[in-house]
Amino acid sequence: MQSIIDEIARDMMAIENKGEVASYIPQLAKVDPNQFAISVALTNGEVYQAGCADTLFSIQSISKVFTLTLALGKLGDNIWHRVGREPSGDPFNSIVQLEHEHGKPRNPFINAGAITIADLIMQGHAPKEVLAEILHFIRYVADDDSIAIDEKVAHSELKTGARNASLAHFMASFGHFENPVEKVLGTYFHHCSIAMNTTNLAKAGLFLANNGVNPVTGYTVVSAQRAKRINALMLMCGHYDGSGEFAFRVGLPGKSGVGGGILAVAPGKASIGVWSPGLDKIGNSKLGTMALELLANKTGWSIFGKE
Ligand code: GLN
Repeated sequence: MQSIIDEIARDMMAIENKGEVASYIPQLAKVDPNQFAISVALTNGEVYQAGCADTLFSIQSISKVFTLTLALGKLGDNIWHRVGREPSGDPFNSIVQLEHEHGKPRNPFINAGAITIADLIMQGHAPKEVLAEILHFIRYVADDDSIAIDEKVAHSELKTGARNASLAHFMASFGHFENPVEKVLGTYFHHCSIAMNTTNLAKAGLFLANNGVNPVTGYTVVSAQRAKRINALMLMCGHYDGSGEFAFRVGLPGKSGVGGGILAVAPGKASIGVWSPGLDKIGNSKLGTMALELLANKTGWSIFGKE
């Protein structure tokens, strides 16, 4: 495994066009695109890493996997009254489908869906309290108490978050929201601004690779059924309108973020964190996807079969 990922990291660093960093969040536009990291946590507890696997980056939409897990823990299948579980086929920040479906987002991973999930987990509590709970959960699954929110990124998102504010107010116009829109947005922007490294991410996804149980700590995080369902949602919706392409090329449940990170799950085998800040046109990490494609091919981990 170490030699496989060393080779992948070398190949990725040699690629000249690493994609464009997200510029609509000014703080993310400052990140050097010339970086790559990969960490693989096997279900037997071994962790392998290559590239700058200790460098912290903004996990952005990868946080939606953890808030979805929390929402399911609090409310179970009741969440499906507020959010669907179908791929959207539209960009992550799209508003169009909300009008046709009475403010019910297609899935928990597009922005509208994740903002709805933030509303659901708040249950009348202050953003501060809910964020403490989200952080506590991520620290617990990643087994790292140093994980924190990058306040600069959160502030940057808040200042330039007109599109997300529009989505939230539009959904609220259907009368669905239980909490004040500004507080829901504050919660959403802050959980997107959590900073982690690829090893944190790989460890945090292990429960999804191991039927809901973290194989290192032995803790049952979710039931096997829930882990399986979260993986299904990641496969179908985790890369927005690029989810089909990701399944086609990589063949693993995965969740991307505009910070350039991707969490991928090889059920029964491993959880993988990759990061390279340059994005493709859809907003998914260009080299991150390429690296996962290479890894899946070299290991035969695609859930669809070997090459
Ligand atoms: N915080 C980002 C946003 O709301 C998350 C988007 C993403 O990572 N795709 O736009």
